[in-house]
Amino acid sequence: MNNYRHELRMQRIYTNKQKEDTIKSKSITNTESNEAIQMASSSIKLTETQPTEFIVNEAETAPKKVKKWVVQQNEMLPIWLRDNEFIINGHRPPLPSVKDCIKSVCSIHSETGNIWTHLLGCVAFIILALYFLIGAKDGTNLQEKIIFSFFFGGAILCLGLSCIFHTFICHSPTASKIFCKLDYAGITTLIIGSFIPYVYYCFYCRLEPKIIYISMICIFGLAAIIVSMLDKFSQTAFRPVRAGVFLAMGLSGCLPAFHLMYTDGFNVLVNQMSFIPLVIMALLYIVGALIYGFRIPEKYFPGRFDLLFQSHQLFHICVVCAAFTHYYGIHNLAHLRLLEEKC
Ligand SMILES: [Zn+2]
Repeated sequence: MNNYRHELRMQRIYTNKQKEDTIKSKSITNTESNEAIQMASSSIKLTETQPTEFIVNEAETAPKKVKKWVVQQNEMLPIWLRDNEFIINGHRPPLPSVKDCIKSVCSIHSETGNIWTHLLGCVAFIILALYFLIGAKDGTNLQEKIIFSFFFGGAILCLGLSCIFHTFICHSPTASKIFCKLDYAGITTLIIGSFIPYVYYCFYCRLEPKIIYISMICIFGLAAIIVSMLDKFSQTAFRPVRAGVFLAMGLSGCLPAFHLMYTDGFNVLVNQMSFIPLVIMALLYIVGALIYGFRIPEKYFPGRFDLLFQSHQLFHICVVCAAFTHYYGIHNLAHLRLLEEKC
């Protein structure tokens, strides 16, 4: 009897345990199915929200493609685009598109003045060259045209390459570096091109000094071009050295003037050798190089000359004025020589 009761108790315990296990397993299944439902619903939520988020992202990015760039502060620019810390604002951001760089020529920023001063100068010299070489009807012979072509070629190359440099300086570090070197090479071609006709007409009937001085400026010019092609030369720290190299080259033009003063006298130099225009040209280059080297006036008034009258623009204006002054000088010199002197 006791055994029967014990067996009955054990059966009840076992049945209860089975019931508990079934309930537990049911509850586990319910929990799993709940999680599955939650996951499914969340995945539905994801599939529902994804297109919306995508549209939102597109809406955020789409305007950036068509959005016009805005001028930036100097400190916001990448290192390769920073050149003058006294020009505080108005800089173009990096524009890695040739089209955007060209379009920026017609908008207002810190390079607008630099671009247009030399673009207008370049166009003016192209018109002048075409008039002199093709249009003039004063009987200029081929030899004179070739000699003057050195000057026109130097002036057009210098102003044109400078204009290209200032337009594409913000394109990329590589473009900035390449065009910077070509800009320096352009300045050298202007100095050589200015020197050749001056020496040619001053020593019109004196072959030896003519060859020596023209060879001298060509060697100096070649050296300056090689130096300006070196990477180190284009660094901001080398600004005074850059100014110094071109100043020295420009001043080398003094040597033939001293020669003529010694052999022909000061009066002949002033009255027949276009000495005054030569001095004005030299002063314009010196003043321009000093303004550029010492960053006047923005160094003393940072942020006041971000768009207009900054040192680089003043330097450009000095270069254009010097080139026109030199053209006036060599034109008069050639005219006098061809009228008076027959070798
Ligand atoms: Zn420049």
